[in-house]
Amino acid sequence: MAEVSITKGEDIVVRTREAVELLGGVHKVVGKGDKVFIKPNIVDGAPFITGEVVQLETIRVLVEECFCAGASEVLIGETPTYRRQTETILQYKKLADEMGAKFLELNNYPFVEVNVENPRFFKKVRLSKPLLESDVFINVPTLKTHASCGITVSIKNMYGLIPPEDRVLYHTLNRVEEAIVDLYKAKRADLIVVDGTYTTFHLGPRPIEDFKETFRLNLTLAGFDPVAIDTISAKILGINPSSLRYLKWAEEDGLGTRDINRIRILGVSLEEACFGRAAGTADFINNRMNELKVMNFNACTGCLQAAVHLMHVVRGLRNIMGGDRRIICVIGPEAKVDFIGKELRGENDVILLCGYCVAPTFYNCLSGVFIPGCPPQPEDLQRTLKELLSRQS
Ligand code: SF4
Repeated sequence: MAEVSITKGEDIVVRTREAVELLGGVHKVVGKGDKVFIKPNIVDGAPFITGEVVQLETIRVLVEECFCAGASEVLIGETPTYRRQTETILQYKKLADEMGAKFLELNNYPFVEVNVENPRFFKKVRLSKPLLESDVFINVPTLKTHASCGITVSIKNMYGLIPPEDRVLYHTLNRVEEAIVDLYKAKRADLIVVDGTYTTFHLGPRPIEDFKETFRLNLTLAGFDPVAIDTISAKILGINPSSLRYLKWAEEDGLGTRDINRIRILGVSLEEACFGRAAGTADFINNRMNELKVMNFNACTGCLQAAVHLMHVVRGLRNIMGGDRRIICVIGPEAKVDFIGKELRGENDVILLCGYCVAPTFYNCLSGVFIPGCPPQPEDLQRTLKELLSRQS
């Protein structure tokens, strides 16, 4: 049986301590003389109120607890997405100095190739050397939804432990979900502490005024099983865990359980923690683009990634789209023709039915363009849309 503790309250210090205590305390994983590596999610060093980064108080508690448990050294490490000294990164460095820990920007340190046993896709991955040389690994993600992985919590947080060029490579190969599962298999965390002070939606760096999807939740989660934690996190955010391909693969590959009957919740109940209104990929796109509407009918993360590609393609084709032309992208196995019909505004709408799941809808009732695939490939999306628009212009 996996255990996930959930605590709720304004005071980050109190609820972080409680969440870890409910599991038996940090000394369960940290012993005398251990070198501990803490990996917070700091991404591009965005301001704390965006919800993009782990709050400093969470890290303060963990560093204190590690030293109390007898750690000889505590490292706080992240590969920031952009090499710039934001106020957030400076505050992290200051905290580490004050507490006798070390803050490492991992792109300044070597990476080591590691073999992946039973790989999902990547037989070898590269991970930070200071992490691999540590005795204990504490994984400290935030509680966010994510454009292409559905959520970014325990397993996606591994992305900050690899060389920047590998991040780009996995994106280019369209294999981010496979990569994060293989990375976790290459190095499993001893303890996971999720800072859910805020939730937000992650899609690259953006100006602070564009964080419309940030909400304060005042939650902390902790546990040892990354699959159980991500399952509970998804439920809290109102995301269907079955729609997350990486989570299914992680369970199949032995990283943990998605079975709610095999997860014991400690602390506040799931009902009490539930927020259920976090923005998904379709919400994020629809809130920002007039010329693209994504209609998501319980699609998995494969087709969510296709929707993100489509967003980039449509942005690039704005100049040939014309004034009131609109692309309607339909994804997911539960697509309802009546529902889609009500959304249509007339002949300026171009319907794209993306992925095999919507094939029955296409063949039976809707005049749209079907893009096959499971998921559809980015080049097919781009080619189809270009052809369509040039035919109609
Ligand atoms: S077509 Fe494939 S990738 Fe798309 S939603 Fe269905 S199962 Fe997922």
